[in-house]
Amino acid sequence: MRAYMGYSRSAGRGEGAVLIFADTVREARVLAWHSVLNEMCDGEYLDVEVSWIRNSPWIFGEMLETSPHVVERPRVCSRCMTWGGSEIGEDGICDDCKEEEAICNAEEELTRKE
Ligand SMILES: [Zn+2]
Repeated sequence: MRAYMGYSRSAGRGEGAVLIFADTVREARVLAWHSVLNEMCDGEYLDVEVSWIRNSPWIFGEMLETSPHVVERPRVCSRCMTWGGSEIGEDGICDDCKEEEAICNAEEELTRKE
């Protein structure tokens, strides 16, 4: 099984992208077509874009069932309001935001010492 991000080509990834678990890109596209994405794409099959989310084993923690399906409202990070970039922890914050915060804190520490 692979994880895919499904979105409207015309609206872009930032607009209501769905998370799809499927075996092939074709299957992912069909599943996306039968999800909320259909409306997002105004019923235009060619507007349904699907991209494989590679090297992100943590994304499988978002699976709702073992068979191919669509997660219409994937969990988003409470800071950056996105998903799919890095793992979202129990605290609802993604690793990217935590890393950014750590860098900011380190910089603050440095300026305080100066
Ligand atoms: Zn984030």
